[in-house]
Amino acid sequence: MESIKELISLVESSTKEENKKITEAYDFAKKAHAKQLRYSGKPYFVHSYETGKNLALIGMSPTMVIAGLLHDVIEDTDVEEEEIKEKFGDEILFLINGVTKLGKIRFKGLTRHVESLRKLFIASSQDIRVIIIKLADRIHNMETLQYVPEEKQLRIATETLEIFAPLAYRLGIGVLNRRLEDLSFPYVYPKEYERVKEIIKEKNNDNIELLKKVNQGIIKRLAKEGITNIETSYRKKGLYSLYKKLERKNWDTNKIYDIFALRIIVPTVNDCYKALGIIHGFRRPMPGRIKDYIAFSKPNGYKSIHTTIFTKFGNVVEIQLRTADMHREAEYGIASHLVYKSKAENNSANNTNNIWIKRLLPNINKFSENNKEDKNKMSTTDIPIWIKKLAESENDVQSQEFIEELKKDFFEHRVFIFTPNGDVIDLPEDSSPIDFAYAVHSDIGDHMTGAKVHGKLVSLDTKLQNGDIVEITTRKEITPTKKWLEIAKTTDAKRHIKSSLKKRGDEKIGY
Ligand code: MN
Repeated sequence: MESIKELISLVESSTKEENKKITEAYDFAKKAHAKQLRYSGKPYFVHSYETGKNLALIGMSPTMVIAGLLHDVIEDTDVEEEEIKEKFGDEILFLINGVTKLGKIRFKGLTRHVESLRKLFIASSQDIRVIIIKLADRIHNMETLQYVPEEKQLRIATETLEIFAPLAYRLGIGVLNRRLEDLSFPYVYPKEYERVKEIIKEKNNDNIELLKKVNQGIIKRLAKEGITNIETSYRKKGLYSLYKKLERKNWDTNKIYDIFALRIIVPTVNDCYKALGIIHGFRRPMPGRIKDYIAFSKPNGYKSIHTTIFTKFGNVVEIQLRTADMHREAEYGIASHLVYKSKAENNSANNTNNIWIKRLLPNINKFSENNKEDKNKMSTTDIPIWIKKLAESENDVQSQEFIEELKKDFFEHRVFIFTPNGDVIDLPEDSSPIDFAYAVHSDIGDHMTGAKVHGKLVSLDTKLQNGDIVEITTRKEITPTKKWLEIAKTTDAKRHIKSSLKKRGDEKIGY
């Protein structure tokens, strides 16, 4: 059951004082939700507990675990903000409010503009930690989706698959990405799910046996060459990820080599390349299957070397080589940078942003110390620029810059505007209703008479803001004017306006 002992044991290196706070949050949430039940019939608190636990499991700080325990108290109970602030402080309140606010974003028209929705989501969250809490919350909601009324299941699962799982992927949090995908998969694509499950089942036993044998051979060989401090594991591809790959390969399982893979964790980056050389020296690699994601990491920061070799048993096996740091990064991504390390930091920083930033720093320093021999290489290629910048200076101006940088990264100076039926259009900052109208459809742009933002009439040169719901009125006789050209911001709108002006200009000249 939901034991506080278990939860505390899962929180990494927390102090007595922190454990006391976690216990307080535990008791507080339990009491606050006491009268509520989940669809499953279980006490609502189970959900609060599991959310906190999910956060502890990915190595989040006591602060995050506390925020996880309390994440629904403001929205779902009559607890007031003041009380949270008094008992748990500004930072916790900030995180809970962030999660509550995110919960209010409604996803409509899911199939369109999902990328924009993801960006909107990030932009509205203010702090990456809020998203991570939301992901932990979503995991438990997905784990209990079978109890939710059937007509809601598909929407929630689709939302998870289209928005939350990709978000986890973008943030590099592999564990959450896989979990969210595999939990939604059976609801969104039930038939395909069954089919993929069969395929995996068929392959299961053979592969594990094979991997064990291959593993033994490789460990022996690496040891002979001096690489001894290694850890290996078998990784099974997530069902949804396998499904996507099957779709790409026309369901030909013989073309998929990484349903199972052998993962080898070695001490240093040099060891990764050395091990690759050793393995290729005694097992022939499959051409075109060697991928150096260390030199060329994936956009979400994923690093590893992948190769597929022919085994002496006449099979092929994918091997993934990485260091422990890369492994942590691949599983926990941005979350791994938030992992709580230094107690001293916690006491000195009061500002929310600072606490977050400063927690990143000890990690960076540790990172470069551990990899002295590769230091130059590391500092230029392995650490994301925004983290590197941060490591160079600890002052607050830089920290602020860092946050902006991070926001820009996801947000790229764009605003996200809703149509009245919930579709999202993303436009450059300072766009006008004219730009919006043309982005929806050129016909709507060409004949617009006016615009309403949140139901109120506005002038055509209004600068649209993130989250505005914009309604355009049109009339067939209306055509663009020169004035519009001055207002429009997007090249698309300008192009249409010009062409319309020109057309009518030509007509006049022609007659
Ligand atoms: Mn919740």
